[in-house]
Amino acid sequence: KMESSSQTPYVRFRVAHREDLQRRQRIEQNLRSAMLADATGLRLDYQPLVTTTDHRLVAVEALLRWDHPDLGRISPAEFIPIAEMTDLIGLVGDFVVRTATREFTEQSWTGDITLCVNVSRRELTDRSLLSRLNRALVATGLAAERLCVEITESAIGVNDSRATSTVAAVRELGIQVAIDDFGTGASSLNQLYRLPISILKTAKPFVDALDESVEAQAILSSIVAMAHATGMRVVAEGVETSSQAVKVAGVGCDFAQGYYYATPRSLADIEPLARRGATTTGRTADPSSPSP
Ligand code: C2E
Ligand code: MG
Ligand code: MG
Ligand code: MG
Repeated sequence: KMESSSQTPYVRFRVAHREDLQRRQRIEQNLRSAMLADATGLRLDYQPLVTTTDHRLVAVEALLRWDHPDLGRISPAEFIPIAEMTDLIGLVGDFVVRTATREFTEQSWTGDITLCVNVSRRELTDRSLLSRLNRALVATGLAAERLCVEITESAIGVNDSRATSTVAAVRELGIQVAIDDFGTGASSLNQLYRLPISILKTAKPFVDALDESVEAQAILSSIVAMAHATGMRVVAEGVETSSQAVKVAGVGCDFAQGYYYATPRSLADIEPLARRGATTTGRTADPSSPSP
């Protein structure tokens, strides 16, 4: 880097800001070319969601992956916000819904599980989301109730009537709605229960804190109690250790997701986990290890 200790903080800021802007522009340009070239370089991985009590596979979450020949692998956490600032999010969202429903229904073993897809804030304010979801269901024959749309807590300010009416319309199609990363935004369960949401996914920091503090367990178990009282089920996200897995089960979370159970991977690589069925003794991440 060209920064040197003789530069003032402001100059360093300006340089960093310019590099940031250049990278964003580069990502936008390359994402545009990729989308115009039939989403070349983009694909989906899927991460299992399991029951906390016996680690049975109940759902998979589609997670977008982008490998670019020059830029390397770019995280969706970086390029989705860029897509959202442009018209590209529509193309990306359409690719995700079409590809996920097609790949999911092509597998013979997915009949009893649910497919979760992430939908960004911008997509929620656009009614074309509804026709996109509907079209995918019709095209693949997937039953609406086996599809779950994940929206981040911050995407759905309760005063945003456009977003809330889209959520209601998605529910009316029979599709499940999950609140993703719950606990990171400003809303409360008190506001959320007015929305037709069936699943709450607690943000990873809650699970991280489980190994460090007893208070974290108390907070998580009161979230679970309130969610259950309002008819929602709870997914603990980001479970990485066996002690976290034990604790999320202990506080009553219904389902869990995290590297401890399985990392994101192709659907074909999830099939052995589905065939294995329930396991209470831990890691299902390595399909080649013998069943307990
Ligand atoms: P998310 O929807 O909350 O997805 C969970 C993220 O946590 C994923 O990161 C997943 O790989 C990661 N993860 C799962 N288990 C663990 C764990 O035990 N430890 C740790 N450290 N991480 C874990 P990923 O795939 O990089 O996605 C990041 C975010 O990008 C997603 O967060 C979601 O908000 C967004 N995203 C991903 N795919 C899509 C998509 O198709 N559409 C939209 N709109 N957003 C997407
Ligand atoms: Mg998600
Ligand atoms: Mg999340
Ligand atoms: Mg997730």
